[in-house]
Formats: sequence, structure tokens, C-alpha cells
Amino acid sequence: MTTTSADLLQRFSFDAAPIRGEIAHLNECFSEIIRRHQYPQHINVALGELLAATALMSATLKFKGRLTLQIRLPGHISLLQAEADEQGQLRGIARYDADQPDDQLSFEDGQMVITLEPEQGQRYQGITSIHGGNVAAALEDYFSQSEQLPSRFWLSCDGQQAAGFMLQQLPSEQKEIDQDAWDRVSHLASTIKDEELLGLDNEALLHRLYHEETVRLYPATALRFFCTCSRQRLATALHQVGHQAIVEMLQETGTIDVNCEFCQQHYQFGQDDLPELFPENNLH
Ligand SMILES: [Zn+2]
Repeated sequence: MTTTSADLLQRFSFDAAPIRGEIAHLNECFSEIIRRHQYPQHINVALGELLAATALMSATLKFKGRLTLQIRLPGHISLLQAEADEQGQLRGIARYDADQPDDQLSFEDGQMVITLEPEQGQRYQGITSIHGGNVAAALEDYFSQSEQLPSRFWLSCDGQQAAGFMLQQLPSEQKEIDQDAWDRVSHLASTIKDEELLGLDNEALLHRLYHEETVRLYPATALRFFCTCSRQRLATALHQVGHQAIVEMLQETGTIDVNCEFCQQHYQFGQDDLPELFPENNLH
């Protein structure tokens, strides 16, 4: 039995149809992400949905690395971003004009950007335009415009927890039979209510939707909040700025202070850290 108060990702499949599904529940990891920011509630909700979608899609990662989903928008709320790696580690941010915090979140004239960054190998980025709706509609636009396996998403967030449900067609030669099964299975999923997706455990949800099908449920994997920032990464970035420029900045301000945008971790570098930042200068 899976409990919905956990942070987990669970795959299921249908014995009679080449379709797989994923269900994601984000509780503690979602709280960890939003408590680091003071986003207005409607931004938390949209970010929760995007995080749930990112968790669902991370189930299909076939490499070590990172998947990033961005929704770029022209209004006061300019960016929603969620990231996941192959170990189910998630983080996310929103960028918006703090002077207009209550501005409506509209997905008109936006872009969905999906980036895959394997630790080894080629980075891939796909960009599609989105035309209103919500996070699930933006993702479905993306999947229908790009050469991906047909996929459908149902996402919910109440500001405290987020959950997502995905269906994806698997490659098969029996096209016509597939279409019937796909239509039936997605039609049933369209009857999910937000409170069911957020509140029912996975067995109960799948039974409620597909009690006439044979559904196979696979072991769940954990999701958690994790930020990839580190003092070492920042030191590398400062090193790239160059010795001269950093020395001048330190002379002006005394310290260089950086806050990680994702987790709000504060890092500080001072005069004493120059040997750590520029070890090659120690030789002179
Ligand atoms: Zn961080």
C-alpha cells in the first residue's frame, strides 16, 4: 500500500495495451521547495504542477543527468522552472515581478522549454509555443508538436502538496488496436478529480479508474528535494570571472555574497578566500 503523504513516483502498465503510466506524489519535497521562497499561492500551485510533471517525465530518463522544464511567459510572472535528475531529486523556482505579485498567471504566448542534460553526451533542448491553459495543456502541446511518444498529463496542486498522473503510448506495430485502447484508457483518466489525484493512494486510484483492466503496478521510487549548488561550484564560477576582477570587487565591497536562487543557501567569499579561488596565483 502506498500512502499519499509520501514523496514517490510509481509506474504502472496495462497487460492488454502498450501503454505505460506514472503517478507522482510530492509532499515533503514540495514543502521544502516552497518554504524557501515567499511566492504567492497561485505561483506555488503552478510550480507544484510543473514539479509533478517533471517528476513524471524523469521516470523516462535513460541516462544519469538532469531534466529541466521551463515555462517562459511574457507577463509579470516570467518563468516557472522545475528540475529533476534520474535519482528523483527535485528543485524549482519561479521568477516574477514582486511589485505585481497578484498578477494573473496566463499561459498565453508562452513557451515550454524542455532540456535534457546527460552527465555524458549531447545536451538536447526542445522549445514549443504554448497557447493558454495550464501546465498539463502546455506539456501536451509540447508532446503533440514534437516527435515524442503521445502522452497525456493530469496535474494537481493545492498549495500544500502536488500530484501528477501521466499516460504514454509505447511503440507498437498494431496501430489500430492501440488507438482504441489509448482512447479508452485516457478517457477514463480524464475522470480523475483533483481531490482523488491528491488524496487517494495509487492502488485505490488505479482501481477506481481501471477496475475492468489488468493493471500492473511496479515498486515505487522516492522523490526528494535536493539542490545541486555548492561552494565548490561557485568558486569555479568566480574563478572564471578572473583574478583581477575578483580582487577589485573585494576591494570595493569587502566580501562577495551569493544566494542560491533555488535553495537560498548563502555563500560568502572574502579576501582570505583568494588562495582557494585562484590556487594558480599562489605559485607566484
Ligand atoms: Zn542551492
